[in-house]
Amino acid sequence: MAFHRMEELDLAGKRVMIREDFNVPIDAGKVVSDTRIQAALPTIRLALDHGAAVILLSHLGRPEEGEVDAALSLAPVANHLSTLLEMPVRLQKDWLNGIDIQPGEVVLCENVRFNTGEKRNDPDLAWAIAGLCDVFVMDAFGTAHRAQASTVGAIQYADVACAGLLLSRELDALDSALSKPVRPVLAIVGGSKVSTKLTVLESLMSKVDQLIVGGGIANTFIAASGYEVGQSLYEPDLINEAQRLIRMAHERGGEIPIPKDVLVATSFSKDAEAIVRSVDEVQNDEFILDIGPLTAVDYARMIQAAGTVIWNGPVGVFEFENFAPGTRAIADAIDVSNAFSIAGGGDTLAAIDIFNVSEGLSYISTGGGAFLEYVEGKTLPAVAALEKRYAA
Ligand code: ADP
Ligand code: MG
Repeated sequence: MAFHRMEELDLAGKRVMIREDFNVPIDAGKVVSDTRIQAALPTIRLALDHGAAVILLSHLGRPEEGEVDAALSLAPVANHLSTLLEMPVRLQKDWLNGIDIQPGEVVLCENVRFNTGEKRNDPDLAWAIAGLCDVFVMDAFGTAHRAQASTVGAIQYADVACAGLLLSRELDALDSALSKPVRPVLAIVGGSKVSTKLTVLESLMSKVDQLIVGGGIANTFIAASGYEVGQSLYEPDLINEAQRLIRMAHERGGEIPIPKDVLVATSFSKDAEAIVRSVDEVQNDEFILDIGPLTAVDYARMIQAAGTVIWNGPVGVFEFENFAPGTRAIADAIDVSNAFSIAGGGDTLAAIDIFNVSEGLSYISTGGGAFLEYVEGKTLPAVAALEKRYAA
């Protein structure tokens, strides 16, 4: 991938605008989880160290465009950032009218989605945004899969457009995992629904040496293999698709294994007792909520044997302690493995946090949807726009 990189540019005295992904959970005016803000700090510090005037952009939530929704103001992010950077971070409203800023200062512009035309990538809005800076830095991997005015549009119109540290690290890591991986490549796709990940499953099939499914997705594959899934979360209308994927794997000389044992419960609840069942013994009043201990050992072995591991989606309802062991086993196996490992997805990141294995992963992607689209082999519009600016 060829694009301008921020670290190669002269930023001294320049107005450097960085598109961030500060779409973080906020409760009672406070940032609840700051992973995304922390991830953005090296880029911001680099710009400051090089003597730039730093203008930050981000969206937050899904406001009605053209209206200011106080509940979706970035004010809590400005406060939090100010604490992390140990310097004032001014929140600026109505920033399209101009931003008064000096080198060494940081200004956070109010939610980009308050501007009409943001989501449809309105060219006039994009032009106005780009006109506010000398250098536009795209660093929001989490929104790189959407062509919007403050992403693709600004990249097109800015005097200079480049990728920030976070975005380039993210793309480099994904590239090593997918384009020139150390084999064998193992992908673990868990989570709730096949429907949200069907294209990912399909495209991974042609890229990886081994695919493991987990969670609600595995339930659909268990049903597709002719077993009872009882009350489990699964998608009856995707059984045909699951069977097609199983056939595709066979044609390639591989397979999509289904768990040999599972943890079931008689209710979908936090305090439900976990019962170990062989996959062919699930009762019609039971919920499959995790993989079983034998399966966990099998999957951990496969992880140890892999050269590259791509992980998206928990293999069980890890939010319930009794049904966390499967996902914990996967996380621990990745933690100790020497494979190049990459993980992405909102709930997957939460699991990595809970099981405290972030140190053991080679790369943790900050993007949920963007991560999946990249894995699917789709071109991310913001990345394509950066490549186009580089080639021009
Ligand atoms: P990610 O955000 O990492 O891409 P998903 O959003 O696809 O992951 O899925 C995560 C959710 O899937 C979790 O909330 C988890 O509880 C749920 N899940 C996993 N296994 C099961 C299961 N067997 N039954 C119901 N829900 C499940
Ligand atoms: Mg999720």
